[in-house]
Amino acid sequence: MDSKTYAADFLDYVAKKDPAQKVFHQAVKEVVSSLTPVLQQHLLYIKERILERIVEPERTIIFRVPWQDDKGEIHVNRGFRVQYNSALGPYKGGMRFHNTVNQDVLKFLGFEQVFKNSLTTLPLGGGKGGSDFDTRGKSDSEVMRFCHSFINELYHHIGYHTDIPAGDLGCGAREIGYMFGQYKKLTNDFTGAFTGKKPNWGGSLLRPEATGYGVAYFAQNMLKNKGDSLEGKTCIISGTGNVGIYAMEKLTLLGAKVVGFMDYDGSVYDPDGIDAEKLAFLKDLVFVRRGSLKEYGEKFKHSHFRSGKKTWDIPCDLAFPTACENELLEEDAKTLALNGCKGVCEGSNMPCTPQAIDLIKEAKMLYSPGKASNAGGVAVSGLEMTQNSMRVYWTREEVDQYLQRIMTSIHTNCLEAAAQYGMPGDYMAGANIFGFKKVADAMIDQGLV
Ligand code: GLU
Repeated sequence: MDSKTYAADFLDYVAKKDPAQKVFHQAVKEVVSSLTPVLQQHLLYIKERILERIVEPERTIIFRVPWQDDKGEIHVNRGFRVQYNSALGPYKGGMRFHNTVNQDVLKFLGFEQVFKNSLTTLPLGGGKGGSDFDTRGKSDSEVMRFCHSFINELYHHIGYHTDIPAGDLGCGAREIGYMFGQYKKLTNDFTGAFTGKKPNWGGSLLRPEATGYGVAYFAQNMLKNKGDSLEGKTCIISGTGNVGIYAMEKLTLLGAKVVGFMDYDGSVYDPDGIDAEKLAFLKDLVFVRRGSLKEYGEKFKHSHFRSGKKTWDIPCDLAFPTACENELLEEDAKTLALNGCKGVCEGSNMPCTPQAIDLIKEAKMLYSPGKASNAGGVAVSGLEMTQNSMRVYWTREEVDQYLQRIMTSIHTNCLEAAAQYGMPGDYMAGANIFGFKKVADAMIDQGLV
């Protein structure tokens, strides 16, 4: 069978099966587009119907989450957990609490997670969950009541050897704490059934920093492979959540100069670049006071806040989208190319649209897909699970060494897989191929389940 025709027919089949799930289709297409030479060489994957099996979550749990606000009003949200693939280990992936959450979004995120987790080289299956509950504007006690209600149902379906949720957009250490508390109360069992816990009761040091640091390490590896380094490179970043802020921190420590970043309201241009003092201000502004970046623009000389404007028109050597899916559009990629940008390294999941990716590749910029360059977060979640099993705590330095080693392996594995299948230097193809083959082979070993 011709693998190109098979892949095209397969995408048609996916689109027809769930016609409304557009972001999910986008994620599947991105992976399958890299797999034609793999399918051609390994017809067993076609015979075993691996693609048809791998796009179908093993199980999806959808449930009612009723909760009361501080005034006593009753609200009902929808809870989800997509247990996507357990060929390599228990389901593992974050929880997103945001009003944009639906089954389409969680299937896309869960699907990506399967390949990302495979790339970490750790024994982790893939899953994702969440709710259309928005934590923004809610009091701590409202968030607690919601999380407890959420777990009242979900505790039946998760567990240390089954499914280990963590954080994502709208779900940080506070939410993990409330969910873990209720899980422990209902099961009477103190186990590492969640990651992203606070370090004083089972969390791993460096987990909050891990995704952002990992992105910076991945960029460092990409440049090193070209005989270059981060030293003096100007960088722009989009999101100012955990991923964005810690990417800025590590990039700066590695000698780069972060000159632009943004949030929901607009972006900051700081030609002098961020430094330790400015970062401390930014962390307090974003994490503690939850204020607007406008304050940064007003406080630091030469920098200014650009209301309603994205960050992508600020001239740079490297761009790091770290906010959410489809945030970097074709016109943004064009602007980056015109400004001489040399690479785009994804910190969020699927932030570049397919058209933007095509343009980035045509312009011969370096490009790393999120499933490779943002895998540091889930990798340190895997290390948190290991520490919990061993009942030990590793130091920051120990965790950081593992993280660096893992990011370097991911980088090497992507390059080797891409070269092996005739697409040298294509990180997207390499990530998809390496991630896919490991899961596919395990599925074949385990038979039709
Ligand atoms: N939500 C994160 C991701 O997209 C982390 C998942 C985890 O730590 O399990 O990879």
